Amino acid sequence: MEIKEIKAKNIIAKSKLPDADYVVNPYTGCEFGCIYCYASFMGRFVNESINNWGNYVYVKTNAVQLFDKEIDTIPEKDTTILLSSVTDPYQGVESKYKLTRGILETVIKKGYGGEIGILTKSSMVTRDIEILKKIPQIDVGMTITTTDDELSRFLELRATATSMRIKTLDELNKAGIPTYAFVGPLLPHFRYKPELLDKLFASLVEAGVEQVYIEHINLSTYIRKRMFEYLKDDPVLQEVYKEAATDIHREELDKIVREQLHKHGLKLRLNDVIYHHKEPERDVLQ
Ligand code: SF4
Repeated sequence: MEIKEIKAKNIIAKSKLPDADYVVNPYTGCEFGCIYCYASFMGRFVNESINNWGNYVYVKTNAVQLFDKEIDTIPEKDTTILLSSVTDPYQGVESKYKLTRGILETVIKKGYGGEIGILTKSSMVTRDIEILKKIPQIDVGMTITTTDDELSRFLELRATATSMRIKTLDELNKAGIPTYAFVGPLLPHFRYKPELLDKLFASLVEAGVEQVYIEHINLSTYIRKRMFEYLKDDPVLQEVYKEAATDIHREELDKIVREQLHKHGLKLRLNDVIYHHKEPERDVLQ
C-alpha cells in the first residue's frame, strides 16, 4: 500500500449527492479497494490509474486545520455534511492520522449544529462512539451489500468483513447513535435469489436498523472496465453484471426490494432505489 502525505487546498466541498449538501474527504484513494467503487476516477487528481485504485492513499495532513477554518462559512439550517463520498473515513490509515476524529472533534468544539453524516465500511467507527454521542445531529451509515463474508472479501477487498459491519451497526444502535444501512450497490444476484435479500434485511433489523438507502449498481464505462478485470475468469458472472445495466433488471429488482422492505418494516430513505448512471460529476472535488 502506497501512503503519501499531501497538503490539500480545501476540505469542505459542495455536493450533488441527494443526501448531502457538502462532503469532506480527508483522504484521496481508499485502501478498501472495492471492485465496484465509483470513486476510482479520483486517481486522475493524483496521477494514479483507475486500475491502481485500492493500492494508494493520499493523506491530507492539513484536513483538520482546513475544516476548522471552512466550517465557519457553512450554514447549519437544513444542511448535511457527509464524511465521506469518495473515500472511506475509517480506513486503516485513520488509526494513525485520526483526521476523521479530528474533524468530528472540531464539529463539537465549534458547536456546529448542522447534520453530520458518516458513511463507512469499517468497524473502526466504534472507536469514536463517545465523540459521536456529543454531536447534536449525527447519522452513521454502514454499507452492507451482502451477508456473505466470502463474497464481501471478493468485492470489498480490505473492508471490514460484512458480518462485523452488521455487529458494528448493532453496537452503534445500542449506544443510541442514529444509524442506517447503505445497501449499495444492490448486487445483481438478488434478482435471482431474493431469499438472500430477505436474509440481509432480516440481519439489519436484528441489528436494530430501521432505515436503509438502496442504490442500484453503477456500471459506467470506467467502473465496468475495472470490475470486469476481476470477473474475467467467470463468463457467467460477467453476463449477470451486463444484464444488470438494463431497465428490466432494475424494474424487477425494485419489485423484490419493495416486497422485502415491506416484509421487514424497513424505511427506504429518499423513498426510492437510487440509480446513478452517469460518469462522475457528482461532487466538487478538492
Ligand atoms: S470503501 Fe467506498 S470509497 Fe473505499 S473503495 Fe469501497 S466503495 Fe470505494
